Amino acid sequence: MLKIYLNINLSDNTLKSSSTTFSVDCFVIHYGEIGIKGKNRAFFEKKLVENIEKIAKIKAVRKSGRIEAEFKSEAEEKLKKIPGIKYFAPALKVEKDIEEIKKASLKVLPENFESFKVESSRSDKTFPLTSPEINAELGKFIVERTGKKVDLKKAEVKVYVEICEKESYIYSKKVKGVGGLPVGTAGKVVSLVSGGIDSPVASFLMMKRGCEVVAVHFFNETLHSKEVRKKIVMLAEKLAEFQGKMRLYMVPFESIQLEIIRDVPAKLRMIAYRRSMMRMANIVAKKEKAKAIVTGDNLSQVASQTLDNIATINSASALPVLSPLIGMDKEEIIEIAKKIETYKISTIPYEDCCSLLVSKHPETRARKEDVEKYEFYSELEKDVVELSEVVEVSI
Ligand code: ATP
Ligand code: MG
Repeated sequence: MLKIYLNINLSDNTLKSSSTTFSVDCFVIHYGEIGIKGKNRAFFEKKLVENIEKIAKIKAVRKSGRIEAEFKSEAEEKLKKIPGIKYFAPALKVEKDIEEIKKASLKVLPENFESFKVESSRSDKTFPLTSPEINAELGKFIVERTGKKVDLKKAEVKVYVEICEKESYIYSKKVKGVGGLPVGTAGKVVSLVSGGIDSPVASFLMMKRGCEVVAVHFFNETLHSKEVRKKIVMLAEKLAEFQGKMRLYMVPFESIQLEIIRDVPAKLRMIAYRRSMMRMANIVAKKEKAKAIVTGDNLSQVASQTLDNIATINSASALPVLSPLIGMDKEEIIEIAKKIETYKISTIPYEDCCSLLVSKHPETRARKEDVEKYEFYSELEKDVVELSEVVEVSI
């Protein structure tokens, strides 16, 4: 057993604020919703184990309703970002024996504290003591050994005990995860990622619902290539932390823009751009065997996001279009963007390719028929997708 000084970095994610010295044996990892997935539970759990091994680079195994993983202090930041994990804890692992548990409980206590509480749970119901009995016996023991007091309502420190089939885990620090479902359990989606605040958040929320995200960005190579590329790759790198890697298609869009500027009245150009993006995203989705398109649309935020315009834009997609931010307030979106650390990158100034020659007074009630009559560039769209640069981002 390695002696490790564990000083957990206390972000607002950690529930307890203290540092302690003990030899951590493993991480105990808990998932939330997966637990209620009935017959599919094994599939969800296996996927989570796979993601933990891939992203946090630690060995992990399923153990009656939880996952036990090898302890490496550098894995902690990674675990905080893996969808499907509700919380995890660096823990001691001992035999299912109350005397062993008592000894371990002293080791997980921090140096300075006044009050504590024991919270235990048993997945092995054959263990001779019930959970309240474990709490009482262990509580009494800790009082005797440390002279500290039990406070059931506002305990400064909580000692957690989990009795499983073959072993028990003891820990005093829980670290909150992102929750949701493991990436890969819901299939693949193609997400339209602009350089703005919204679309990276939308991509994250879909990952959190179990989707593997492939990103697509449309840009004008002749106008602003290097800076935009850098920014989008940075966003993809941030997002990749949640799924281990990310494929990003950089689609050079300028030839389509020229067609649109030539053929489509200024009022309708934004709708035409966005419909064209939808069709090209569908081409990418076919290549990637993805099942839906994701956008960062937010109802009524900008002119292209009226109900009529959204309907007209989305009707260019054969696949379902998912817009998880549709009903959120901008502040709520920004809050998530800050948490997932895309906000700073998104607010670096950049030239949005779509601002190119759009009207100051765009149509807010575009109908499909109004735009369709100008759309003669579907062959060009296929060629443009073929010209994409495919960037493989990994962490
Ligand atoms: P965002 O903050 O995500 O840029 P927005 O509020 O600026 O969104 P729009 O610019 O109208 O809104 O874009 C709506 C959605 O269309 C974006 O969230 C994104 O999914 C998609 N989109 C817009 N421009 C691009 C682009 N250049 N490349 C890829 N997707 C884009
Ligand atoms: Mg935008």
